[in-house]
Amino acid sequence: MEKLVIGHFYPDLLNLYGDRGNVLALMRRAELRGIEVEVRRISIGDDVKNGDIDIGFIGGGQDSEQNIMAHDMKNVKGEVIKQMIEDGVVFLTVCGGYQMLGKYYEEHDGTRIECLGALPHYTKAEKNRFINDTIYEIETDGKKIKVAGFENHSGRTFLGEGEQPFMKVLKGHGNNGQDGFEGAHYKNTYGTYSHGSFLPKNPVITDMLLSLALKRKYGKDYILSELSTEAEDLARKQAIEYIEGSPTVHE
Ligand code: GLN
Repeated sequence: MEKLVIGHFYPDLLNLYGDRGNVLALMRRAELRGIEVEVRRISIGDDVKNGDIDIGFIGGGQDSEQNIMAHDMKNVKGEVIKQMIEDGVVFLTVCGGYQMLGKYYEEHDGTRIECLGALPHYTKAEKNRFINDTIYEIETDGKKIKVAGFENHSGRTFLGEGEQPFMKVLKGHGNNGQDGFEGAHYKNTYGTYSHGSFLPKNPVITDMLLSLALKRKYGKDYILSELSTEAEDLARKQAIEYIEGSPTVHE
């Protein structure tokens, strides 16, 4: 029986809008396929080694929570997380977690939080926040798919050399409200501003992450078995119709 270990980093500090739901979605779609899943909570004071986990998840947090975990992430777990990312461990990081993988996060008053620097992006906060239900587009197997999300951030993120945008913005602001892109992709690591039920709403991304992790662990010929997405597709279609009819807000 296959087994995946999901490492949930800082679940007590970075869990805005139910970001933990992404871990539940990964578990659920793996377990429905008969794959055993273990979830490890990895916060300040917890130990983790490269090789311990197959998928890492880091959620979003407020600036104050990012300030609390920044030291641990940069100075205690930093080297291990960087090694994991370089070795192709699958990571999904959301908002604050995504920002913290980059070089730095500058608050709107100029205070700078030095971040991990595992990825080359940087983030600068403005006073006004981007708060929207969002629609993005990804291309998978040559097909363009609409992805539903929700963003709430004051940070504007600018990608660096060597990382690619994760998705294209169809509605909302994405990374910075300027370049039309959302999130980042480097090796098997993904960053996004989409909070909450990102994976529950978008099973194509859940399955992509599971597939990457299983191929890495059990060989590149591993094929993830088919599993219905009917209920999620119906929910996403309705959400997208609603979002398409709503104005884009810039607070
Ligand atoms: N503090 C960050 C920002 O506002 C992240 C917030 C979040 O995770 N929602 O940009």
